[in-house]
Amino acid sequence: MTQPWNSQHDAQKNLQSTPVISTQQLTHYFGQGQLRKQVLFDINLNIDAGEIVIMTGPSGSGKTTLLTLMGGLRSAQEGSLQILGQELRGAGKQQLTQLRQNIGYIFQAHNLLTFLTAKQNVRMSLELHDRYLEQNLDQLASDILERVGLEQRIDYYADSLSGGQKQRVAIARALVSRPKIVLADEPTAALDKKSGRDVVEMLQELAKEQNCTILLVTHDNRILDIADRIVYMEDGRLVDDPDMAARAK
Ligand code: ADP
Ligand code: MG
Repeated sequence: MTQPWNSQHDAQKNLQSTPVISTQQLTHYFGQGQLRKQVLFDINLNIDAGEIVIMTGPSGSGKTTLLTLMGGLRSAQEGSLQILGQELRGAGKQQLTQLRQNIGYIFQAHNLLTFLTAKQNVRMSLELHDRYLEQNLDQLASDILERVGLEQRIDYYADSLSGGQKQRVAIARALVSRPKIVLADEPTAALDKKSGRDVVEMLQELAKEQNCTILLVTHDNRILDIADRIVYMEDGRLVDDPDMAARAK
């Protein structure tokens, strides 16, 4: 089921009835030949519009791999992966590029351009969207930086900000274009307890306001309560409950 992106209205109608993220028997391998290694096994996961889902699980269990597949940052190989009603298995480069316009990304390392100011970093993400070209990008960037509590830091170089402030810029950058989905990979891993908490609370607040769907990977059990639902990954498989999985071993 492939939809043209210009039919926004149809896409919206469709979203009300289908999950924003839906995988069926999604499987992934790295490597070729003898080195081929399966890292995801039959992943079935549906996430509805506006849901905040936290994914947790041991290091190396496949969380980042799954997130990058969902974000159209790598190609789905086997099974079904539908994002915003579009099947991504077999999707071409152009389809993935278009899809990425509807997704905000937040990584563990903030990935800001350190030689740009906070505002320029946020603005740059808007410049990638055709639909914002006619708007006052500086204003939009300043407004969202204010929303994440950085009104005093708008024109500071990213380099001169604290870890928590940088990650707040990263949130502003991910959400300024009002994406339908935000994928966050261990966004608090490099932050102290208080900054980590502040950052996810801001993310939660903005997402709820925009009815944005969030999938957030974390090891940080201090932030689990912001989720509507928690899913666990172990050895490339989603498990309902880690205690249950342990008992089954
Ligand atoms: P997590 O995010 O849960 O720590 P990853 O998705 O990063 O797990 O990794 C899952 C498995 O896939 C690990 O065994 C890892 O070594 C392997 N892996 C991740 N990325 C690559 C890659 N680009 N090439 C080969 N193997 C990879
Ligand atoms: Mg990871």
